[in-house]
Amino acid sequence: MDTSSEGAIRAYRREQQNPYACLDLLEELDQLKADRRRLENQYAHANELEALSELVLQPNSERADAQPKLQHPHRTGPARESSPQRERRNWIERLAREQHQQIWSKRAILFADHATRRPIDMIDPIIVLELLGYEVETHGALGSMANSDRHASKVAGLIDKTSRKVLLSSGFPIPVRNFTAAHELGHAVMHDFRGMHRDRATDGSLSSRDGVEREADIFASMFLMPRRLVKQEFEARFGRSPFPWNEETRFALGGSLPYERWEPASTRALAQLLSSAAGFNGMNFIPLFKLFRVSEWAMAIRLEELQLVEKHHG
Ligand SMILES: [Zn+2]
Repeated sequence: MDTSSEGAIRAYRREQQNPYACLDLLEELDQLKADRRRLENQYAHANELEALSELVLQPNSERADAQPKLQHPHRTGPARESSPQRERRNWIERLAREQHQQIWSKRAILFADHATRRPIDMIDPIIVLELLGYEVETHGALGSMANSDRHASKVAGLIDKTSRKVLLSSGFPIPVRNFTAAHELGHAVMHDFRGMHRDRATDGSLSSRDGVEREADIFASMFLMPRRLVKQEFEARFGRSPFPWNEETRFALGGSLPYERWEPASTRALAQLLSSAAGFNGMNFIPLFKLFRVSEWAMAIRLEELQLVEKHHG
């Protein structure tokens, strides 16, 4: 390991020893851990470890260096995806996995409690940015930027690849902060910028973004919600996937339904319900979106993308 990574790790650990740093994040984490313990069974833990360590033990034969060209950035959405777009998505997913491997292979240095910490609690974009030699700072506010409609929005994050600095704003809810950090990590590993790149707040539910912004969003979604971990947590809650909508599953969802006669109008609506459901078949659990520290919309999009929900027309 080179000295700059070591320095970054040391700085990170020092920061972690400050009892007041990231207090809100830590409280949320405690809550998540308590909920997870309730949900956990002896096999779930083993499977999850296996899912992540498998990535390390069988290094990807398809390396991420060959970069497919970005085409038709304005025509997106899985249904209409052309094959170059699919190739590009696969490339982005491989890159996201490589970052997970980075964390996993250095877990003994990064986490004092690495032996008991679950992989899902290791998926932290800030750690990877620091491993890549970026200095990451969080500030109360980062000023504003002009939108295309000439209105101003608050800056949620910015990256300067030349000086290897990422600044994040603490003035947003956790799902936005987490997604923004992962979005900047996406820029760090995928895109060449000169000077400063600024980003407004997003939780991953915007669909109108184009080009590099959309790519960084896709990366963030894949980094924060890895395919196998999401599938595993989904199936631990709802049984098998894809999830069908019928009398039986409606009954099992019971108290999670917005109201008694609710009918999902689309696959997305059903995915959104499952992303925020706090119980199924008499078992209570932490909703998926909270477990992965993303918004319920970001999780709904991912569930649909991974085809964990059966297609549904209202
Ligand atoms: Zn951006």
